[in-house]
Amino acid sequence: MMSDYKFYEQVNKAFDKAAAYTRFDKGLLAQMKSCNDVLHITFPLERDDGSIEVIHAWRVEHSHHKLPTKGGIRYAMTVNEDETMALAALMTYKCAVVDVPFGGAKGGIRINKNNYSDEELERITRRYTFQLYKKNFIGPGSDVPAPDYGTSAREMGWILDTFRQISSDIDAEGCVTGKPLSQGGIRGRTEATGRGVFFGIEEACSNTEDMKELGLEPGIEGKTFIVQGLGNVGYHSAKYLTEAGAIMVGVAEMDGSIYNSNGIDLEKLMEYKKETGGVTGFEGTTKLKDSWAVLEEECDILIPAALENQLNMKNAKKIKAKIIGEAANGPTTSDAHEIIKSRGALIIPDNYLNAGGVTVSYFEWLKNIQHVRFGRMGKRFEEDSFKRILTVIETISDRNFTQKELETLARGAGERELVDSGLKDTMVNSYNEINELRKLHNVDLRTAAFISAINKVGGIYEQMGIFP
Ligand code: NAD
Repeated sequence: MMSDYKFYEQVNKAFDKAAAYTRFDKGLLAQMKSCNDVLHITFPLERDDGSIEVIHAWRVEHSHHKLPTKGGIRYAMTVNEDETMALAALMTYKCAVVDVPFGGAKGGIRINKNNYSDEELERITRRYTFQLYKKNFIGPGSDVPAPDYGTSAREMGWILDTFRQISSDIDAEGCVTGKPLSQGGIRGRTEATGRGVFFGIEEACSNTEDMKELGLEPGIEGKTFIVQGLGNVGYHSAKYLTEAGAIMVGVAEMDGSIYNSNGIDLEKLMEYKKETGGVTGFEGTTKLKDSWAVLEEECDILIPAALENQLNMKNAKKIKAKIIGEAANGPTTSDAHEIIKSRGALIIPDNYLNAGGVTVSYFEWLKNIQHVRFGRMGKRFEEDSFKRILTVIETISDRNFTQKELETLARGAGERELVDSGLKDTMVNSYNEINELRKLHNVDLRTAAFISAINKVGGIYEQMGIFP
């Protein structure tokens, strides 16, 4: 029987499979795969009760072919060197797939955040930032973290504040993304990954030919979906899918999983989760055996949005979904991927589908180093131009616009609209790019995304002539 592999090995296996379709020689491919810098640090935490605990943390910069490197920071008990290396490598390929000009990186602290007070989490985050600074693993031009599993805008705010205290860099705000708006964050970053997941799935579902192969109608409306993990990415993916008319029939969380073939109300479930800390027991739903059981239920789209290795040799044969939207990083092991694919399902891979977060992080970083909000220079000018055009239309026709119509038609694009437009453009264009490669080489979408990434990263190495 085939087995599941370690995470970094899984990523490299997928890379190797795709590399066979590219022109690069073995040496250059080996360089592309390897992690350029791996940092493992330990530091003491003084707990609220006065005791001392040793904290283990990592930061990996996978590829310096473009700078800065970029990647989230994860707080979870699964964090180790292998996981951080795998996630950093995925970041390199992801950035290349969606043309975000960064190298890949990732960071992590091995803690269960629920076991620490807010004050302890702040001390851990600040000390980690200080250690990264000392080792030159953070900075707007070198390495820029972001939120990931277990972290949010709050932690990013602490990171910026710590960095500012020890660095006089004029671009300091660009040392981290996913920050609160009041500290240089950007409108649309919190929801960006889920919004990108939605745009990616929407684009895949709009392809009549591809949907026909799956035995599905084109479009999102009426499609059923199951989501694993109702955190940042899972919730926002579900929100936009629901708004577009898809029906959420199943949810998995830490406390168990629930199913209702007639649909589950997302916002009411979120309220229930806030009150009770879980999803099981929510009215009108059936509680299944455990957290993983719902992944095997009937649905059109399955969205793993929790952690890696969730679709594996234990459950691959039982997965019924026709589309797997990989919102999490590495949710499908390579062996499970083959089994699910052989059943004819379409797997929209993580290294494309969850790139919305890093895309909007890129916009945030640009805003920070430009020191100006998107739309600030042009919004009013655009509005005035639209108004002049509308006035001309009124004078040459009998039509007089109401005040409300004028406000809607003459609205200039502000930061939120520009971010959303840039994100959609990125997700749509990249999907079509990898889908064309998929058809050209008769491969799956993951391999196509890797081919795209390897061609782009390899092309840069060739141009640089980096080998003295
Ligand atoms: P999060 O901490 O906000 O949410 C994760 C959720 O998954 C939590 O609600 C947790 O309780 C739940 N969960 C954990 N294990 C589970 C299990 N076995 N079954 C069901 N639910 C489980 O994290 P997030 O930021 O939403 O990240 C989720 C995934 O998306 C990760 O793989 C992360 O690397 C990836 N990702 C996140 C971002 C981002 O911008 N946050 C960007 C790209 C990729």
